[in-house]
Amino acid sequence: AQQKKMSLTGRVILGMVLGILTGFIIRSLFAESSFVHEYIVNGLFEVGGKIFIASLKMLVVPLVFVSLVCGTSTLKDISTLGRLGGKTLAFYLTTTAIAITLALSMGNLFKPGAGADLSAATTFAAKEAPSLGQVIIDMFPTNPISSMANGNTLQIIVFAILFGIAISAAGKPGERIAAVFADLNDVIMKLVALLMNIAPYGVFFLMAKLFTGLGLDAIFNLLGYFLVLSAALLLHGLVVYGAMFKLFTGLSVKTFFRKMEDAVMFAFSTASSNATIPVTMETATKRLGSNNRIASFTIPLGATINMDGTAIMQGVATAFIAQAFNIDLTMGDYLTVILTATLASIGTAGVPGVGLIMLAMVLNQVGLPVEGIALIMGVDRLLDMIRTAVNITGDSCVTCIVAKSEGELDVNRFNDPHAGEKDE
Ligand code: ASP
Repeated sequence: AQQKKMSLTGRVILGMVLGILTGFIIRSLFAESSFVHEYIVNGLFEVGGKIFIASLKMLVVPLVFVSLVCGTSTLKDISTLGRLGGKTLAFYLTTTAIAITLALSMGNLFKPGAGADLSAATTFAAKEAPSLGQVIIDMFPTNPISSMANGNTLQIIVFAILFGIAISAAGKPGERIAAVFADLNDVIMKLVALLMNIAPYGVFFLMAKLFTGLGLDAIFNLLGYFLVLSAALLLHGLVVYGAMFKLFTGLSVKTFFRKMEDAVMFAFSTASSNATIPVTMETATKRLGSNNRIASFTIPLGATINMDGTAIMQGVATAFIAQAFNIDLTMGDYLTVILTATLASIGTAGVPGVGLIMLAMVLNQVGLPVEGIALIMGVDRLLDMIRTAVNITGDSCVTCIVAKSEGELDVNRFNDPHAGEKDE
């Protein structure tokens, strides 16, 4: 007889909750036990979690390349590609600008940094923000194999698009290659589905390890910052995206957020938009109903250049640090923050903690002390998890909007609550 099994989402949530509880239990009851720390926390949990992340990352490069070649090789003409790219970029840049503006406003309204304790400040080295020219030059690969070896998503995207265009222009040989890529794509998506089965365990290991080491006392010292930033992230993630989604697609916002569950949880537990690409892609195509032609382009692009959650962190953190060090920022400074933060987010991949490195560039540009980062570093991991969830929700929201506007969103699939839940 068929047994009723818990859904994957249910199992991932269970893994997450049990992991968090386990972390707290070890932290409070076994803090002294070197056995537990050596063999369980730094042994079992660490190994399990790392293998899980590695297996997700393993899929990213083949998935992005193959699905994007597939997508572009079936485009009817090149002008579609230009329109698609233009629309996607416009939405990505606009949402990022809204995000930073929202964050700066909330940071100035609630003043989380007024009277902050500066004793934690130490030195912190900042890198220069890349120039726009360099960001664009860096998108073009000199050697596609090395782009893939290094996991440089933007370069892989450029090569895949050119390759796809050539396939569609190459007549019979092109058709044969396109068929191979279509099959490859199915196989890789199958691999994603297979790997999802280990996700509940992976998430458990990651959360248990993380919460064993996570000192919540750091959060109490920075409660103002933590709350204002979380509120801004929630506001953007639910209200701004919700309103945009409704306005541009006319579809149910509730259904959209429900179907985002898996991807949001993966983003939350890995804190990496990049490692989450396989899940975001699966969600966008199988559950939300976007055609692969759209999602294969917008999702990897978004994971790299569209980081609204990260931009929000930078906005609130800039306001916080300026207040903590009693420095007044001018209107021009704020504009610089918006520009630098957007540029920095284009040039850096979505991996854990990269937001802080970008923040250093932003602070440098407006002459704020980079040491300020040391103040907020202690609470960054948890916030990184939340903002990564916002980042990939933004990518998926824009994917649906662009897909709908191109007539490439399967509305029946979107409305079917069980679409994409089991293997098809
Ligand atoms: N972890 C974030 C991401 O992958 C980037 C960051 O804000 O650090 O999207």
